[in-house]
Order: sequence, then structure tokens, then C-alpha cells
Amino acid sequence: MDIEKLEKIAESEPDFRMKQVKKAVFHDLIADWIEATTLPKSLRERLEKEAPLEFSAEVFPSKDGRTVKARIRLEDGLLVETVLMKHTDKRNTICVSSQVGCLLGCEFCKTGRGGFKRNLTAMEIVEQVLFFARHLKDKDEKITNVVFMGMGEPFLNWENLKRAIEILNDDNCFGIGARKISVSTSGITEGIEKLAREFPQVNLAISLHAPDEKLRGKLMPVNKKYPLEKVLRAVDEYIKNTNRKVMFEYVMIKDVNDSEEQAKELVKLLRRPLYMINLIAYNPTGRFKASPPEKIKKFKAILEKAGIFTTQRYRFGNDIEAACGQLASQK
Ligand code: SAH
Ligand code: SF4
Repeated sequence: MDIEKLEKIAESEPDFRMKQVKKAVFHDLIADWIEATTLPKSLRERLEKEAPLEFSAEVFPSKDGRTVKARIRLEDGLLVETVLMKHTDKRNTICVSSQVGCLLGCEFCKTGRGGFKRNLTAMEIVEQVLFFARHLKDKDEKITNVVFMGMGEPFLNWENLKRAIEILNDDNCFGIGARKISVSTSGITEGIEKLAREFPQVNLAISLHAPDEKLRGKLMPVNKKYPLEKVLRAVDEYIKNTNRKVMFEYVMIKDVNDSEEQAKELVKLLRRPLYMINLIAYNPTGRFKASPPEKIKKFKAILEKAGIFTTQRYRFGNDIEAACGQLASQK
């Protein structure tokens, strides 16, 4: 599907048409132009020919039915993966990708190991949400949250990220509130600044994964250009300007970053107002092992005892390689 063509086609039509087209696609979630009964037949036929609404995608449901991964084929044949997570409290979260591959090559992440292909356009980002919105419509359900935690570094694709957030937000399109949208970054400070300026209500998550520069540098090459210290300064500035909470993501890797000493170092670093920690079970990608549950428990207890709000992420979709860090652009 190529929604960009829509805008071109709508240009030659009266102004209100684009609104009708958007409503049909993003709000009514039509899968065929025939359903867009507000549009004249000639326009529907032209749209059907020039901007068909079908997706080329494969779908992989997890055994427990709570996670579905979609592998969408883009116009140029590249593949992008998107994940739907169904929470027990009726929330339906879509984890979207912002790039095909990633330039940053974190040691624990499969996306990073496959190399970088290209940025996604705003529409290609939005299409991932559209895909699952239609999927849920059949079950009378809706998307409630969108997280930019799929493939790629969102802040290295700022213009398209920005446009995509605007479309997700737009009441004529999806109408998803900014507070229901989260962006995760490996610590690109310019992006953190721009997010505070342009979308202060969108949630920010920071991939931390280590309590010191040396280890973070080993796990995340991006730490050279954006060291811990610089990232935390940007976060403080972000909080000063937005007064919003910030979530620090920390993947628990066995015997690498999960010791009691490291938990105490983390306390020193992150015991500050509006800082929260989300401990993530490491999803196997070949290189490391996951911390055992009892070690995660101990680690969490140290953080909590120090008064840091700490959560543990439910592991979605491990069996279909749809968990954090397991998305890739190749089969
Ligand atoms: N590039 C951005 C957003 C995508 S990654 C970022 O790094 O923040 C989304 C989250 O999954 C990040 O916190 C990332 O560190 C984490 N992740 C990567 N590989 C993982 C793995 N193997 N197991 C668990 N989480 C992983
Ligand atoms: Fe890129 Fe994020 Fe994976 Fe690191 S964790 S390689 S920044 S997608």
C-alpha cells in the first residue's frame, strides 16, 4: 500500500476530499475503496487502481495468543517487523519500527547485528499501526498505545518520526493521545531535546543497560558519541522543561550487568525525581544469557529499597521472535 500517492491524488480534488479520504483509511479502517461510500465512484476507481489498500504481509501469532508479529513487505521489497501486544487490562500496544535495520550495533540486539538498510518514511511507520488497527477492528478492538521500540533508532529518523507522531495524534486519523505514545532511544541527545520541544506529552524511554561508561561502551558502541554522562544531562534538561517521568530501560544480562554492586551503582546514578527503571528480561539473540529470575528479583529489591520506582517488563512473544531486540529485516 502506498498512502503517499493518496495525497497526490487528493490534490486535484476539492479540499474536503482529503479529510474524507483520511477518515475512510485511518478512522473507518476500510480495506477496499469500494467501502468508501462518501467518495464519488470515479475517484474510488482511480484510488483502487493507483493506491490500493492491500498490504503484503505475513502474520505470526504467539502460542498464548497475546502477541502477534507482522512482517510487512515495503514497496522496494525490504521487510519490516511490527508487533501487537495484547495486555490483560484491554490495552493493545503496537511496537513499531522506525528504520529497516539499525546503524548502532548494540551487542545484545538482533536488529543491530543485521546492519542498516534505510529510514522508514512517515507513512511506512503509520502503515504498521494501520495494519494492526484493521486486524483488531475485526475483533471489535482498538489500538490504545504505540511504542517506538521496534527496529531502528527513532531519533536518527527525526523528520519521519515527527510526521508519524502527528498522524497518529491527528483526530481525523488515529486520534491516539500523545501520552499513549512512547519513544525509546539509545540516547541521541539532539532527539531528546527535540522531543521535549515538539512533543512534551509523548513519553520518553532511555536504553541504559549499564551503570557505568565502560560497560555501556562495551555493550553499546553509541556510548562513544553519546556517553552516559551526556545522556543523563540531556534527561535532566528534558525533565526540567517537561516535568514528565522518564523510563530507563535495563536489559538483565547474566553475569554482565546484573550484580548487586551494579544495582547499587545504578541507585547512585538514578535516584532522582521522576526517574523510573524498567527491568527487561534479556531475550536470547545468540550472544549472552538471560539473568536468572532470582537475580532479577534481588536487583529489583535493591533499587526499590532505595526508593526508585521499578517495573519489570512482561516478556511478550518470545516464541515468535517478536520480543525486544529480536526483530530483524531478514528471515
Ligand atoms: N533503538 C531504540 C529503540 C528500539 S530497541 C533503543 O535502543 O532504545 C527497544 C528496546 O529493546 C531497547 O531498550 C533495547 O535496548 C531493547 N533490546 C534490544 N535487544 C534486546 C534483547 N535481546 N533483549 C531484551 N531487550 C532488548
Ligand atoms: Fe539499534 Fe536499539 Fe537495537 Fe541498539 S538496541 S542496535 S539502538 S535498535
